[in-house]
Amino acid sequence: MRVLQSPQHVRQAPFQTHLCYTSHVSSRLPVCFVSINPSANPVKDIKSNNNNNNNQLIQSLCRGGNHKQALEVLWSERNPSHKTIEVLIQSCAQKSSFSDGRDVHRYLVDSGLDQDPYLATKLINMYHELGSLDCARKVFDETRERTIYIWNAFFRALAMVGRGEELLELYRQMNWSGIPSDRFTYTYVLKACVVSEFSVYPLQKGKEIHANILRHGYEENIHVMTTLLDVYAKFGCISYANSVFRAMPAKNSVSWSAMIGCYAKNDMPVKALELFHQMVLEACDSIPNSVTMVSVLQACAGLAALQQGKLVHGFILRRGLDSIMPVINALITMYGRCGEISIGERVFDKVKNPDVVSWNSLISMYGNNGYGKKAIQIFENMIHQGVSPSYISFITVLCACSHAGLVEEGKILFESMLSKYRIHPGMEHYACMVDLLGRANRLDEAIKLIEDMPFEPGPTVWGSLLGSCRIHCNAELAERASAMLFELEPWNAGNYVLLADIYAEAKMWSDVKSVRKLMGKRVLQKVPGCSWIEVKKKIYSFVSSEEDNPQIEKLRALLIKLSTEMKEQGYAPQTNIVHYDLDEGEKERILLGHSEKLAVAFGLINTVKGETIRITKNLRLCEDCHAFTKFISKFANREILVRDVNRFHCFRDGVCSCGEYW
Ligand code: ZN
Ligand code: ZN
Repeated sequence: MRVLQSPQHVRQAPFQTHLCYTSHVSSRLPVCFVSINPSANPVKDIKSNNNNNNNQLIQSLCRGGNHKQALEVLWSERNPSHKTIEVLIQSCAQKSSFSDGRDVHRYLVDSGLDQDPYLATKLINMYHELGSLDCARKVFDETRERTIYIWNAFFRALAMVGRGEELLELYRQMNWSGIPSDRFTYTYVLKACVVSEFSVYPLQKGKEIHANILRHGYEENIHVMTTLLDVYAKFGCISYANSVFRAMPAKNSVSWSAMIGCYAKNDMPVKALELFHQMVLEACDSIPNSVTMVSVLQACAGLAALQQGKLVHGFILRRGLDSIMPVINALITMYGRCGEISIGERVFDKVKNPDVVSWNSLISMYGNNGYGKKAIQIFENMIHQGVSPSYISFITVLCACSHAGLVEEGKILFESMLSKYRIHPGMEHYACMVDLLGRANRLDEAIKLIEDMPFEPGPTVWGSLLGSCRIHCNAELAERASAMLFELEPWNAGNYVLLADIYAEAKMWSDVKSVRKLMGKRVLQKVPGCSWIEVKKKIYSFVSSEEDNPQIEKLRALLIKLSTEMKEQGYAPQTNIVHYDLDEGEKERILLGHSEKLAVAFGLINTVKGETIRITKNLRLCEDCHAFTKFISKFANREILVRDVNRFHCFRDGVCSCGEYW
């Protein structure tokens, strides 16, 4: 058992206790600003001006947004300064004026200034900002003296638009040509690994770049190493990410946030919270920022750790981070994932102009808690308020339908995606629909939908179908779905376990054996079940067959006592889900050792009467634990909230909010 302390003694730097909103008024007007009278003809007026005046005039015309006039002056000017051209280029980018930008470029080609490396980088940046990577590429290709700055400018542009593979190919060419990388190059090339699609093995590429970084002595550069950490985090290589983080001689808020985010995104919420506490207590120079807090909230949400979440909310308020949209949205999600709908709603209500992400968080909150109709109502409210639904909005609302078994409503929404909102349904939407139809035992319709998909169905779609096959004990269809899954994600042990469960349910014991054998051959192990419970602001974790907890004997005794008493009232242990050739008593003993039952028992012993017990489970709740918890909620007169990997279960007075849809 592991115990995580809450941040009771949060370090407070004196300047952080009160917020100071200074209005930052910076005069953008330089000393040499030339006032432009729009009715006058400045071009005519400057004919006699000297070179200096022309430069000044061009710059001030740019600031006034008068590119056309600035260009006219430029064409008459033989020796414009670099500064003037730079201002003109930047102004074209800022004002999104592509044609004027092209004219400046043409001027530079005519005057031979396009070969100036400094101006060429500015042109590349301009074209990137104007959204024309092809023109940027042209500048890049036509620049003969190619300094590292030119490469970096183009790399940056490619990384920012997600053209990672092109970037990595050019990086290879750059290495061939013998130009040494600098810290910016490494940052962009590493970003390329994160954004590139999978045809060039980006993780392997990341490791190669890591080796280059070490070889060329950049391992102490905080920016490079933080980006490297992001690469490892993205591919779930947590130990690599951690060793990069630990080896950093200096860390800043960004690197701490990256590592906390790495844990939060890779299903290690306890680690994320531990590191956050360490950051608050130890990292004197690194103050948690909004990015940190979003990850921390994500970790609290992952654990359904309401007390921790509330402490973090307080911390956010004290730091004045509560008006930042991503933080607000993460707060709504956190309260939703902890089952605290009313607080989540209050946070949402305080947002002046909720964006689509906030609405999505709200829809998702209701959906995950089983309020499908309410989720649809919120979705409609959002549209009514003039916010267009996004790709994600449809995922959240369709999931909500699925969790509540709202088949017809889901079908209408799915249809409306393209016909009404011009959003092409993606893999996630199809997976939601297959889940929705499958759970409702409309497996034929689910299969038809998969067959009619306009692209190849991925693992999420087949996974939804396999899950439905388990609910409805359809071994034949399960074989079809799992054959696809074994091909698409041979490493995912969960699929094998699910198929074995379906075979066992159908008493196809030889098939159960062959699936287990296949797992052994592929060296796959079932992910052990783990449950977390938060008691008095501490988080306790339990695994099945827990040995370390000092209260374990007490917990076991309580579970045996409760089970015996509840059996008299109708609880029947579902020993059929234990797929081993054991006697009934032994099977019952295994069931009682399930991690969520231990967590429930721990909650009953260590919380006061009437207090809600909150548990999170890393896998799907098993049938027996579900039935057991329903009984306990009535028997012990306790509200028990369990969030499993799929959804929320609120057990109260012998019934569960999921309505057996999980
Ligand atoms: Zn269980
Ligand atoms: Zn339930």
